[in-house]
Amino acid sequence: MSNFPVNKPVLVTCALPYANGKCHIGHLRTYVPGDIFVRALRKQGQEVTFISGSDAHGTPIVVNAEELGTTPTELVKKYHDHFYSIFKRMGVEFNNFGNTDSPANHARTNSIVEALIEKGYVYPQVTKQAYCPECKRFLPDRYVKGTCPHCGKPARGDECDQGCGKHLEPGEIRDAKCQICGHAAEYREQEHFFFRLSEFGDYLSGYLNILGGTTNAINYAKIWAKELKDWCITRNLEWGVRFPGHDELVVYVWVDAPIGYISFTEEWATRTGNDWEKYWKGDSRIIHFIGEDITYHHCIFWPAMLKGAGYTQPWAVVASGMLKIDDKKFSKSRGYVVWVDEDYLDHGFHPDLLRYYLASYTSHTKELNFSWQVFQDKVNNEVVGALGNFLHRTLHFTHKNFGKIPNGEVDSGIYEKIKSTTTSVISAFDEYEFKKATDEMMELAAFGNAYFQSKEPWKLVNADKEACGRVLKNCLQIGKALTLLFEPVLPGNMEKAWKQLGLPGDVHKAGFQDALVEIESVKIEAPEILFTRIEDKKIKEMEAILDKRIKIAMAKDNETQETGQFVTFDEFGKLDIRIGRITSAENIKGSDKLLKLEVDIGEKRQVVAGIAQSHSPGALVGKQVVLLANMKPAKLFGVESRGMILAADTDGVVLLEPEKEVREGTKIR
Ligand SMILES: [Zn+2]
Ligand SMILES: [Zn+2]
Repeated sequence: MSNFPVNKPVLVTCALPYANGKCHIGHLRTYVPGDIFVRALRKQGQEVTFISGSDAHGTPIVVNAEELGTTPTELVKKYHDHFYSIFKRMGVEFNNFGNTDSPANHARTNSIVEALIEKGYVYPQVTKQAYCPECKRFLPDRYVKGTCPHCGKPARGDECDQGCGKHLEPGEIRDAKCQICGHAAEYREQEHFFFRLSEFGDYLSGYLNILGGTTNAINYAKIWAKELKDWCITRNLEWGVRFPGHDELVVYVWVDAPIGYISFTEEWATRTGNDWEKYWKGDSRIIHFIGEDITYHHCIFWPAMLKGAGYTQPWAVVASGMLKIDDKKFSKSRGYVVWVDEDYLDHGFHPDLLRYYLASYTSHTKELNFSWQVFQDKVNNEVVGALGNFLHRTLHFTHKNFGKIPNGEVDSGIYEKIKSTTTSVISAFDEYEFKKATDEMMELAAFGNAYFQSKEPWKLVNADKEACGRVLKNCLQIGKALTLLFEPVLPGNMEKAWKQLGLPGDVHKAGFQDALVEIESVKIEAPEILFTRIEDKKIKEMEAILDKRIKIAMAKDNETQETGQFVTFDEFGKLDIRIGRITSAENIKGSDKLLKLEVDIGEKRQVVAGIAQSHSPGALVGKQVVLLANMKPAKLFGVESRGMILAADTDGVVLLEPEKEVREGTKIR
């Protein structure tokens, strides 16, 4: 039995793409199955609203805009338009594709945060926040880099993105450095606001037992729900949704981003005269499609926030596994990336083929590998060889010999086969098993091919034309069923196939149950070929593009490593190192490490040196030393220092001096 249709409003959402970079195949692993799922529900007569939009806030966008010399608003607009157009080209059709910087989202976020404050779920606390003394600013989230306290891998700001994937609270990251200038961060006290997540432990444990979706998400969340810490929900930033009553603070991006699901539903409802509250305040089914890397936010933070503020909590969370390219971990910086526009659509590949690949390669929760070779094999053997071949040979043979869909009844055995396939496909969709669903569909195409082959209509057409007509009628009924079943996966081509079969109305609006309605005897046109084989030459071309990108990334990486290791002659030449003579030395008030020195390098230089514990001022006067004369001036204990005395780094400090006395100011090369 299917979980659908239900007598409740159904809302399906896809995770919000972050408006800070281009769309790659990894993104589509969430959006394409989300779209397939929505189409499949509609085919079962279920009304569904399908929502997504751009995640516009957070520090990576601010940091990137700063580096590019543009504004966050401009940057967000650019990528918002980009994602919207790619989704459209890929046949992913949302009822609303919003933007979290919209007035509706600012308003809804304010209202939810105020509700949480009112109910006592938010409290202020003075905490230590990373601060860069060089840039003179606090370092929220991506402004700071360092080491993950849980697994020791390099981490950025609020998440351990190269290691264990854990969310990091402000102040948790180790060896914190400023992302902009590289200076070691200091910690300064500041008041922030916290959400009492720790109070939701019992609620979440119960909730996660009834939450639907995929087990990869829910099982992790169950472990996390046992050790909940309160959650800092404010940041020192200009860009974002203001925290109520505090103009210097915005809410953390993971507060206002999921609230986008609500505000985008509101925008859609306003536009179409619908009611958003039936989804978010009433008895509904909210289904979130996400990538498994954001499970924590969707299974822990988000339901707790909704529960606290009095909104309907998600019914299911469906998390897709990660993506590999040529069996290597997906990585933009290492070149293992396939861009949806420049590497796929712009080369003339049909969106349906990539949709099929993403749905059918492996189980939704497993790691998906993309390779051009496998893409070619799957398209040529399955889409062209099984489905395309069956539809075309049936239609071509029918048109040539009958010119119309023949009269006569469809065998009951054929109806049985269609019925059992449809049931299997629907139950696979219910379990978010897109591969199982497409495998069942392809199996029906293979059945059709075997049936056509075994009945030999090319012989029958001369021996017994009526019997031949009955065989074709059976094949055409299978063709109709395939067109309906495949529509969620291959919407563009199934629209064409529907017309070729002479079927009335719109394939996108027809239901799965129409597969059992006998195909009518109407005239048909000569069919055009729907799917063509992908040639080796084209695949070689695509592989060369990927190889080139990987090689460039590697060369760049080597270059960075080399420039890190070696100094060029020019770089050394920039150092102004001279022999100088110390002409005076005295202690600095308040410091037991520093001495104020005057060094003669042909001119007088005031230098502060950390040598008070190893050298007495009296013993230094008259000594020749080596001075880095163009060291950037700095103030130490209020005393200006314009140079650095060179010393050997050992126990105690050993000053360098020339082998024999030379003139003050002599350059060292
Ligand atoms: Zn800095
Ligand atoms: Zn980690």
